Parts: sequence; structure tokens; C-alpha cells
Amino acid sequence: MADTMTATPKTLRDASCADDYDPNSMPVAKARELIRTFLTPMSAVERLPVRSALGRVLAADVISPIAVPGHDNSAMDGYAVRFADLKPDAETVLTRVGESFAGKPWSGAIAAGECVRIFTGGVMPQGADSVVMQERASEDESGVRVAPGALTKAGTNRRFAGEDLKAGQLVFRAGQRVKPAELGMIASLGLSEVGVYRKLRVAFFSTGDELKSIGTPLAAGEIYDSNRYTLHGMLTRLNCEILDMGVVEDAPGKLEGAFSAAAQSADVVITSGGVSVGEADYVKQLLDKLGEVLFWKIAMKPGRPLAYGKLGSAHFFGLPGNPVSVMVTFYQFVRDALRILQGERDVKPMPTFRVPLSAPIKKAPGRTEFQRGILTPDGAGGWTVRTTGDQGSGILSSMSQANCFIILGNDTGNVAAGEPVDVQLLEGLI
Ligand code: AMP
Ligand code: MG
Repeated sequence: MADTMTATPKTLRDASCADDYDPNSMPVAKARELIRTFLTPMSAVERLPVRSALGRVLAADVISPIAVPGHDNSAMDGYAVRFADLKPDAETVLTRVGESFAGKPWSGAIAAGECVRIFTGGVMPQGADSVVMQERASEDESGVRVAPGALTKAGTNRRFAGEDLKAGQLVFRAGQRVKPAELGMIASLGLSEVGVYRKLRVAFFSTGDELKSIGTPLAAGEIYDSNRYTLHGMLTRLNCEILDMGVVEDAPGKLEGAFSAAAQSADVVITSGGVSVGEADYVKQLLDKLGEVLFWKIAMKPGRPLAYGKLGSAHFFGLPGNPVSVMVTFYQFVRDALRILQGERDVKPMPTFRVPLSAPIKKAPGRTEFQRGILTPDGAGGWTVRTTGDQGSGILSSMSQANCFIILGNDTGNVAAGEPVDVQLLEGLI
């Protein structure tokens, strides 16, 4: 038994003691996997009016209380008929006996040789089994003339009760994120409220003496803090409750205060800057005092330094300082971790697909690169991709110009024009 238990570390310390654990060259996939083992999904639940549930995660299964649609109805404007009445190779003349509008059904039943004028969504009258679209029929004093061959089989243009959702059916499982289609489906069931997990509270701050918040003039050597803004955007898109704690000076006392306050008030603490080599030792000591944190050099570019751990019950992500690295590490590590913490089940990474390069790329094997790419139509019905140009980790405009990541695997070296590469769309990720 004991030898089968080595695979999943129970504590962060166990994780860091595994034989193949190398904090100085941590593969992207391994870091992701390790982080995953420490994530406990949210359990606190709240009930919300349907619209407010957009972007939230369902906390309970949704069972359909009714069938949708509730009755057989027409998919077309036309005439409700009995298929058996129609002559396949000659015109059929039927007697119109009523009208069925959406929301205003006709209460009678049609007999042989009869039809009912019907509109899209109108309830199918008793006795009718099919709908002839109005373009295939005309009306005059002799009745409704249905063109030969207007229908080839019974049931045409008829929508069946429960064809979307059946009464008692499991519609959504707990752990599913509510998107626009889910909002509409919940409304179609007549449910005015749904149970969702409460929002994840995420506190974040930037570290660095060179950073100034906007609204303050810059002195020599200072820059404006942009990471808190990209983080604000990325976390807001993920529907987190955010606690922006501003810029914290690189001073032990200030940092300790900020880390403790963040860990006490949030489910997740994210910082940017201060986890690179040199700074790490100092921040490391501080974090070791407050919790259990692992510092990694991920075998990736950009985004090499990354810290992950627990500060009390809060999860901690220490992201690199460079603005592009912040975004890349957020999307590649933090995003899916937050989705799991929010209660989402079946969290799968964003799909990648292969697209040929329109210009060569230089790359050294031994790390995974997330270059910023621009996908464009190739003029022949396919797509082609190129980089945004300079891939420096401080060049935030590369993230703005890009519509995808070009992901170059660990073992990949230079890639020639025309060769396929893995791309991951930013749209959907952000
Ligand atoms: P660090 O990881 O703290 O060594 O920072 C790496 C680089 O990112 C340095 O050039 C920093 O000035 C820059 N940087 C760190 N934090 C921020 C921030 N919040 N906004 C913009 N640039 C930053
Ligand atoms: Mg710094």
C-alpha cells in the first residue's frame, strides 16, 4: 500500500522533497499539477436572481421543473395539416378551420381535409401532425391550396414538447459556470433564482520601490504601476471580488503587514514583483514565517520566477514583476487555479491548435515559450500566425497587439516559416 501513495504530495513540504523536484527548473506542466493538488474548491453558497448569476458557478444541480417547450408547436409560419391528407403528386385543397398564434392556441381539433393557419411557436392543433410552410401554399375562395410534394414526411416543421428539455431532466450539474446560454436556459425553466458559490475574494498588491500609482508625478527612475491594472482586468473578467491593496514598498515591515492583512481578508493573495532571484531570499524568509511557500524558476519564458503556497488558509501566488510575465503566468497558472477554487468542475485548459508560421522564430530548447502572436487569414481559407515582434517581458503592448499565444514546447528549437506551431486564442482566455 505505502508504495502506491508516493504520487500525490499531501503538503507543500512533501512536494518540495520529491526526488525529481527541482525548484530551479520546474516544468510548466509539473508546476500546474502541483498547484492543483492543493486547491480546495469554495463551498459557501448564495442564492441570486438569474441575471446576477452570469459568470458565477452553480452550487447545485439544476433539475428542470417543466418541459421546454411545454407543447408541440410550429417551427414555421404556415398551415397545420394532417400529412395523410396531402397528395404527393397533385395539389391538395384543404378547408381552413381556425388560427393558432404563438400564445393564442386554437382549441378545436382538425378532421380529414381540414387545416389551421399557424404561426411560429403556435400550439399544434389536435389532429394535425405537420406544418406546410406558407411559401408552399396559397389561399383563395376554394380553400387552402397546398403545392404537390410540399411535405415529404409526417412531423415536418413541428417542434415537439420537451425537445429542448424534459421535465425532471438534469439540466446542469453543480460546478458549471453560468454563461449567456445558461442564463437563457434557466429563464426558460421559469426559475427566478439559482444557487451559486460565493465570489472568490482575491487581494493583490504590487511590490517595488520604483513603482508609483497613477496620479502621482514620476521622479527619476520611477515607473507607473501597471500590474495592478492588468490584474484588476483579469480578475474582474473571472468574476472575483477584488481587494486592490496598492503598491507596497520593498521594506520588510511593510511587506509583512501587507501579506498578513491580505491573507486574513482574502481567499487568494496575488503579488507581482519581488520573487526573482536576489529578492527571493528576503521575501522567502518573510513568507516562511507567515506560511508555506515554494519558490520556482519555471522552465518557461516569460514568467520564470513564480511562487505558490499557503498563507494561513489563503492561497498565495507570487508573480514576476515584468508586466508581460504577470499576464502570462496569470493565464497559464492562476486562471485555472482560481476557476477550481471558485467551484468550477471539469476545468480544462484552453484548447490549442496547430497553425503554420508565416515567419521563422528563434528559440532555444529547454523551456516552454509563450510568444505573443497574431493570427491572420492566409487568403486560402486557412490561418497563419506570426509573432508581434519584440518579445521582451516588459513590452506590454505585445499583449495588446496579440490575439493568441504561440506556445513553443520545451524541446522545440528554431522553427522555420511554414512549420506548424501550437496557438492558443486569447479571446476566451481573457
Ligand atoms: P521584479 O520582479 O520586482 O524584479 O521586477 C521586474 C521588472 O518588472 C522590473 O523592471 C520592475 O520595475 C518591473 N515591475 C515590477 N512591478 C511592476 C508593476 N507593478 N508595474 C510595472 N512594472 C513593474
Ligand atoms: Mg521589484
